[in-house]
Amino acid sequence: MSPKTTSEEDALLWGARALKEIANTRARHEARLLLGGVLKKDPTTLGFDGGAMLTTSAWEAYQEVVARRLRHEPISRILGYREFWSLSFEISPDTLDPRPDSEILIETVLSFLKNHPQRPWGTSAAPCLLDFGTGSGCLLVALLTELPQFWGVGIDKSINALEMAQRNAARHELSKRAFFVASNWADALLGSVDLLISNPPYIPACDVETLDLDVRDYDPRSALTPGVTGLEAYEILARQSVSLLKAEGICALEIGAGQEEDVRALFEKAGLHFISQHKDLQSHVRCLLFQR
Ligand code: GLN
Repeated sequence: MSPKTTSEEDALLWGARALKEIANTRARHEARLLLGGVLKKDPTTLGFDGGAMLTTSAWEAYQEVVARRLRHEPISRILGYREFWSLSFEISPDTLDPRPDSEILIETVLSFLKNHPQRPWGTSAAPCLLDFGTGSGCLLVALLTELPQFWGVGIDKSINALEMAQRNAARHELSKRAFFVASNWADALLGSVDLLISNPPYIPACDVETLDLDVRDYDPRSALTPGVTGLEAYEILARQSVSLLKAEGICALEIGAGQEEDVRALFEKAGLHFISQHKDLQSHVRCLLFQR
């Protein structure tokens, strides 16, 4: 095919055929998303009555992104953004790709606050939310859009991730309520907060090689694994959260499959009270909630 003769419809067909190899039943959908990204058009509008003819550069750019996808690069990384909590987030090689499972943490926190409207967040004029390992900022931004009385701080040791998180906060008009600090966990922090959240790296180092290629080769390694046991970040967070949380403040954590007992033991030993656990669609406990 040459660009002069390639319509949007032809390009979609070509892409869907090529992508079948890795995307199977999603091949047509993925071809549409990628062509939409290249042409900067709403993917749902492409190819009607054949659609417009592609320019040479658009056709080449489309072939290139299809080739990237065939090397297992996730669509979100190719397009540079990902939907989370129905909000759009920019992502980069320095940030974890936000996962639908992490929305469980958002639901858990919102439902707890709704059912316990009193203290400490109810009485504090500007209750504070702290997000450890903020990455793209997706958890912090999603919660702040739902909790207009809160302000929030995102912590990360990666400056590049913090820049991205800051951009995502600005994109959702939260620059006045979302602040970002470079710190190795709580080392740079003083003070106390009402709500602490984290989706820390939790995959044991030796399991990283067994992950799907889309994850293993494209998410930042430091966002996936904290070390040999996978519990290293929780050990630090358990110690630090007791001194960071106000009395009755809450801590919501995302965890990996099968880690609930170990993580619960670490936080209870540190002095927090376990409140509840929440499962994902595969029935793995995905989120734990504690209170000081
Ligand atoms: N908080 C971010 C997210 O949930 C980053 C998490 C991480 O890098 N482990 O996507």
